[in-house]
Amino acid sequence: MSYNGWKNYCTWRVNLEYFDQGHYMFDDQIRQSKDVSDLAESLKEYVEDHLEQEGEGQVLSYALAFLQECSYFEIADHMIQDWEGVHCRNCNREIDGYDEYCSKKCKEEDELLATHPKG
Ligand SMILES: [Zn+2]
Repeated sequence: MSYNGWKNYCTWRVNLEYFDQGHYMFDDQIRQSKDVSDLAESLKEYVEDHLEQEGEGQVLSYALAFLQECSYFEIADHMIQDWEGVHCRNCNREIDGYDEYCSKKCKEEDELLATHPKG
């Protein structure tokens, strides 16, 4: 059952309450690697660590059971797309969001890399 455009209620709510206000604490990780699975794993740890500080015993156990429904992958994917929307695809410099690259030079460099893969 999707919920407000998210996979389900749990995913929507976790994103809203933990990550919608900004995700500066994950910016470095996104900058270094745009790997959705790695980021999803970090988000999961972040939320679960927080809950473990907030509650214990049966309360914690119920909360963690609720989180089984959460698609951290969907949140991570969304976050990376958000980030890419305001950063140059080549040099990661912050841009105004209308372009994919900060300069013509970056666009050319990135296209060159895409057509001539490393290794
Ligand atoms: Zn650039």
